[in-house]
Amino acid sequence: MDSARTPSQPPAPSLATPVQFLRGVGPARGELLARLGIRTAADVLFCFPRDYQDLSDQRDIADLEEDTLQTVCGQVVEVEQRPTRRGTVLGALIERGGDHLRALWFNMPHVRRQLARGHRVMLSGKPKREGLMWVMYHPRLQPLADDEQEPTGRILPVYPLTEGLSQWQMRKIVRGAVEEYAGLIDEAFPDEFREAHNLLPIDRALPQIHFPDDQASLEAARRRFVYQELFVLQLALAVKRHQQHDLRRSPQLEATAKIDARIRRLFPFDLTAGQEQAIREIRDDMAQSRPMNRLLQGDVGSGKTIVAVYAMLLAVAHGYQAVMMAPTEVLARQHARTLEQLLGASEVRRAALVGGLPARQRAELLEQLAAGEVDIVVGTQAIIQDDVRFSKLGLVVIDEQHKFGVRQRATLKGHGDSTPHAMERASAANEEPSEATKNNGPDPHYLVMTATPIPRSVTMTLFGDLDASTIRDCPPGRQKVRTYIAGEDRRERWWEFFRTKLREGRQGFVVTPLVDDSQRIGAASLQERYESLTNGELEAFRVGLIHGRMTAAEKDAAMDAFRRGETQVLVCTSVIEVGVDVPNATLLTIESGERFGLAGLHQLRGRIGRGRHPGYCCVFTDTSAEPGEAESSGQPSSGTSGAGDDEASAALSEQSRRRLKAFERTTDGFALAEEDFALRGPGNLFGTQQHGMPPLRIADLLRDREVLDEARRDAMEVITADPGLALPEHARLRRQMLVRYGKALDLGDVG
Ligand code: ADP
Ligand code: MG
Repeated sequence: MDSARTPSQPPAPSLATPVQFLRGVGPARGELLARLGIRTAADVLFCFPRDYQDLSDQRDIADLEEDTLQTVCGQVVEVEQRPTRRGTVLGALIERGGDHLRALWFNMPHVRRQLARGHRVMLSGKPKREGLMWVMYHPRLQPLADDEQEPTGRILPVYPLTEGLSQWQMRKIVRGAVEEYAGLIDEAFPDEFREAHNLLPIDRALPQIHFPDDQASLEAARRRFVYQELFVLQLALAVKRHQQHDLRRSPQLEATAKIDARIRRLFPFDLTAGQEQAIREIRDDMAQSRPMNRLLQGDVGSGKTIVAVYAMLLAVAHGYQAVMMAPTEVLARQHARTLEQLLGASEVRRAALVGGLPARQRAELLEQLAAGEVDIVVGTQAIIQDDVRFSKLGLVVIDEQHKFGVRQRATLKGHGDSTPHAMERASAANEEPSEATKNNGPDPHYLVMTATPIPRSVTMTLFGDLDASTIRDCPPGRQKVRTYIAGEDRRERWWEFFRTKLREGRQGFVVTPLVDDSQRIGAASLQERYESLTNGELEAFRVGLIHGRMTAAEKDAAMDAFRRGETQVLVCTSVIEVGVDVPNATLLTIESGERFGLAGLHQLRGRIGRGRHPGYCCVFTDTSAEPGEAESSGQPSSGTSGAGDDEASAALSEQSRRRLKAFERTTDGFALAEEDFALRGPGNLFGTQQHGMPPLRIADLLRDREVLDEARRDAMEVITADPGLALPEHARLRRQMLVRYGKALDLGDVG
């Protein structure tokens, strides 16, 4: 905020008018509003209510129903305030038509000022029947003037607030702004389009979203803004897709029958139908002269790696290089090992670029890559983006995309000339490469994989600029994993079972969350757990330890020992969450399960039941601890306020209970993803911020799924007809799109 915008003369009304000049605001409130991100008249207009208070269901006391929001107007016949052990209770008796209603407020003594015996009030709340009496706890109260008619059919907006700003002040400010400024807003949609899509015009939608006449008008207004928000987002994604796809060139890498046969000869198993389908889609993409930008979704263990290997070998068959990036060292090394196994007998030249490589070896490897003497390189994204230069890059595979941000995606270029290095640096630093560099040489194809199934509506939003393939089946012979959510009383029995299975030759994990943000404490508690297990429940067994604070070499050694069966049990944090594949591991103990998100739990469970033997997963919960989210769940904090602290934490523990129930009930990752999404509720777009996308202001991807489908279809159509949004009737939409998503999606200079 700059104080330069504080001239003494109020400026002429415009949408950019600083908020302090609005009716009923002034400098002090202006600052309060700024805290909510509201700085101009336009900001006020588009500060959508986070909820509504529906006073339209007004009743006589005799007609009340329990537990639904209703409003009663009546006369105050009695007011009483008493001290309680922890404060005060204020009670009022309200009479209407000879019936009585009791209203109670705990620790809200200020309400008393609005309660005068003999005067009329309006109460809104959810009544309860207590004996013969109707009672409302903490109803909203509005005094009515003597000559005031009973308000009917009103739906009042509820705005986000900040301390020092009350709901009614905010309502007044918005009402004033709507009256004075709403007329200045331009309609973004061409009339014909607006009518065809059943959208309220802006000059009607704006007043109605704030002060609706009735539920129907509110719905219509809401639809308009939800549609607009999702449509603009989908326009941005469609433009992005167009830029990445249609405006660029890539090598055409066709999978001829001969190449196909040569690749398949290397595979030790038949592919599943889902894998075949994904490969077909990838082959079609890679045969084009425009870059593939494909998201490969598949549940944990569905076998995405081999699909990626197919794509990489296809690139190599045409003399191009391929790179595969993983989010962690552990996973990168595992991929390197998988490639060794698959390609050991082939002529494909492979390399792994991971931490801890001796400097000489590393320099040599980088040289080979630049000279085109290595075909496939695997590594962590950090390392590869930092210093790898390719001679002829044809394909980039990014595993476990959800661990990165969307915006970190397209930073590798496949040029064989001398510019790529500078180019990578430029895009890493988020600078716009010059047009000349941009069109210099072909782009690689991109394959992005995610093992955390995400709800369809989220895929369409976060990854809406990618084409998607989904593997829905699993390789044959996959074993069931049984899941138990257990109380303390089951510990003994579980460990007995755990030991029995170890004696049968199986292996297992014991996962403890980092209980603290501080890695040090987390590691210490893990160490403790390790010691208590090795001196207790697992005394007779070989137990290893792995956690995030170990060096890459230490982690690698611990993983290797486990893989070879030298250790039978691995005590770990969710380091193993991502991708680790040890088929003989069938046992999984999760401690403090309430601290993990559903996606994290699902990933953990994906580590077992991968071989010939069934898996067993037991989740213990730490009921004494505050419920929360684990290290890697990436859940943003919800923006809504209002609920008291007690209420919020009670809701959270209820949420973790339901989360664990869902986890126990199903092993289908896609079903869990939808469930998780529903449980988290609106505003939790799987870490949109983490993905660098601005949050949605009004649309709710759970509730508004149908509008999303519609908006996406329409946006695609518009972009197909007018790829640069260059037509004059699209100018406003184009501007909105650029303002909102231009930077996040790096849309550059559209047109
Ligand atoms: P994810 O999709 O979770 O990355 P992976 O690619 O790691 O799964 O595959 C999981 C396991 O299944 C690996 O051990 C892999 O070798 C095996 N696998 C993959 N596809 C098949 C198949 N078609 N038949 C048998 N086993 C398969
Ligand atoms: Mg994987």
